[in-house]
Amino acid sequence: MNYKDALQNPIFKIISEASKNLNLDSYVIGGFVRDYILKRGNAKDIDVVAIGSGIELAKQVAKLLPNSPKVQVFKTYGTAMLRYNDIEIEFVGARKESYNEDSRNPIVENGTLQDDQNRRDFTINALALNLSEANFGKLLDPFNGIKDLENKIIKTPLNPDITYSDDPLRMMRAIRFATQLDFIIEKESLNAITRNNKRINIITKERIVVELNKILESPKPSKGFLLLEKTGLLKHILPELTNLKGIDEVEGQTHKDNFYHSLEVVDNIAKNTDNLWLRWAALLHDIGKAPTKRFSKKVGWTFHAHEFEGSKMVYHLFKRLKMPLNDKMKFVQKLVFMSSRPIVLAQDIVTDSAVRRLVFDAGDYVDDLMTLCEADITTKNPKRFEKYHNNFKIVRDKIIEVEEKDHVRNFQPPVSGEEIMKAFNLKPSKEIGIIKEAIKEAILEGEIPNEHEAAFNLMIKKGKQLGLTVS
Ligand code: ATP
Repeated sequence: MNYKDALQNPIFKIISEASKNLNLDSYVIGGFVRDYILKRGNAKDIDVVAIGSGIELAKQVAKLLPNSPKVQVFKTYGTAMLRYNDIEIEFVGARKESYNEDSRNPIVENGTLQDDQNRRDFTINALALNLSEANFGKLLDPFNGIKDLENKIIKTPLNPDITYSDDPLRMMRAIRFATQLDFIIEKESLNAITRNNKRINIITKERIVVELNKILESPKPSKGFLLLEKTGLLKHILPELTNLKGIDEVEGQTHKDNFYHSLEVVDNIAKNTDNLWLRWAALLHDIGKAPTKRFSKKVGWTFHAHEFEGSKMVYHLFKRLKMPLNDKMKFVQKLVFMSSRPIVLAQDIVTDSAVRRLVFDAGDYVDDLMTLCEADITTKNPKRFEKYHNNFKIVRDKIIEVEEKDHVRNFQPPVSGEEIMKAFNLKPSKEIGIIKEAIKEAILEGEIPNEHEAAFNLMIKKGKQLGLTVS
């Protein structure tokens, strides 16, 4: 088969010419070829294998390009990278790899194209297109990767037990590709991942998180998490989630399986947002339910304060996985902490003051919080489903209405502490706090508008009640 059409970008002819000048063969390999055949849009990364020095080839290509772009050389890896327009092109010499027990970093020797294809993780990632003048665009597909692309199958080129044990990151990659592309992992591979799941512990947390994020960014993330669970990987990576599995029954009373529920919520939210951190919040919104689960005869199953517990767990989980402990983490924490608040509104009559309090507490996160709570509606009762969604629509409308009127989203007290001190000739004292709180409460309850004059009058009234005199 010839895939000249895939190589229309002028860069490929230039690589071809550079290879000729150096008297070596080169191939474009991996993701670029796979994604071209899958019609996944323009690739921004191109991997080129040289049968010889990848670094020399990169330098030769740079020479032939207008403005001779900078070549970044990674000596330890024997690779080089350059940018052409907005594309990153990585060059590597064909290599043969062998592995140690305790590391995913192989011992590397020069090799043939076949050796290089053997070291690739999946048959669909081992496809190569020839860049030499005589065979430009010719496909080299030693493991029937094209057939696996057609049949949507993830499969390793060699023995899966060895492939996964050598570099356990590939287990995560298999599941990530299956989720992103909606492919099936071949049975032998799936069994090998299950057998090797413990080896995930030699992989750095950062690499694991890259794959988790890609799973979460997929159209249906549950597919990946179900595979992680089925293969036993999930308990090594996110035990907080596997702890949510199962349904307990005491005296005929059960609760829902919060693991499957969480996955449903992630799938729901994936339809409404691409925000990775909001998807994380959906995944983790119930993690506090495992440690807070109790049964009492009077009320049945409870998860008292699970939102608070869950938000604390978010911090420990992010820390353990070496994820950023910054505003993203705080965002996830806050959404987990507030995740039940709008639900109460959805079940009840929606009052202005309840909405005002929600906006006050959630601040700028209120819209994301609503998106999370809508995704959290997984009831299979169609009447209830409709009722909750309708109520959330009312809440959303009210949020806009209340916000226009009262501006409580980023609440600034309309009367400052200084003004109170001046009005009553006070030194810093607890009365100031009491008056400020009374003003805030009156605004949230809708008793006064969020305006200076009304707040000032209330301050005078409240001050008098406290026995203060106006100075
Ligand atoms: P994506 O860009 O979606 O991550 P990709 O396949 O381009 O997909 P890269 O990580 O850029 O992924 O890897 C490029 C190529 O290198 C792959 O297609 C595969 O052939 C090979 N590769 C990457 N990681 C591994 C690995 N851990 N083991 C074996 N081969 C790998």
